[in-house]
Amino acid sequence: MSERRPLVAGNWKMNKTGVEARETVARLRALLGDGELPVDVAVCPPATALEATARAASGSHIRVYAQAVHEKASGAHTGEISAAMIAATGADGTLIGHSERRAAGETDDQVAARVRAALDGGLSVILCCGESLEQREAGETEEWLAGQVRAGLADVAADEVGRLAIAYEPIWAIGTGRTATPEIAQEACAHVRSVAAGTLDGAALRVLYGGSVTPDTAGELMSQPDIDGALVGGASLDPEAFAAIVRGA
Ligand code: PEP
Repeated sequence: MSERRPLVAGNWKMNKTGVEARETVARLRALLGDGELPVDVAVCPPATALEATARAASGSHIRVYAQAVHEKASGAHTGEISAAMIAATGADGTLIGHSERRAAGETDDQVAARVRAALDGGLSVILCCGESLEQREAGETEEWLAGQVRAGLADVAADEVGRLAIAYEPIWAIGTGRTATPEIAQEACAHVRSVAAGTLDGAALRVLYGGSVTPDTAGELMSQPDIDGALVGGASLDPEAFAAIVRGA
């Protein structure tokens, strides 16, 4: 067991209205209780439900993260939201560089600028990275992850490690039901940590695994020495399943 405090975050993607988000958080609060938890817990609603989620989570252990942020403070960026807008909803942080965003065109340079903008705006960050199946099969995983991690951390200062986590999410495991084995996930997370250690204190950095995590697979994954929690997609939509994953951390 590492000394890093685990983080379990639920990425709701394009699911849940404000009303549904409130109901989910209320159920989650009931399931998790008011006592101290040995883990940090976060949910990532769509932008339209950030404020409702933050209100519903107020006074609880549950932190609220956006799913994406734009690097600019304001201006002609239709459909985007700034770090200040996210903070004003009462949210605590944001995901950056999720593979679904990268597949829609988000570049390494944008990811780096967005990480900087989020930290400058007082938000915490979960920076996502991960390889495709083709890259894994071609033996390019380590090089690819190193490139994404170095690029994402390009403008991060060493003393910002406490507000940053990196989620290793192999694209072939996201939403496929094909969870990485604990050995594969451990090896990749250890690699991510060692690359990040070129910029900040690797021993203090939280590295999460994401990709088809369920209550059945979470415990073994999160007990690996370099895995400090999980970024959960599909299973986080169901409060019972998400609470079970939190309890397994
Ligand atoms: C994700 O999209 O971050 C994710 C891990 O999704 P899932 O758990 O559904 O694979």
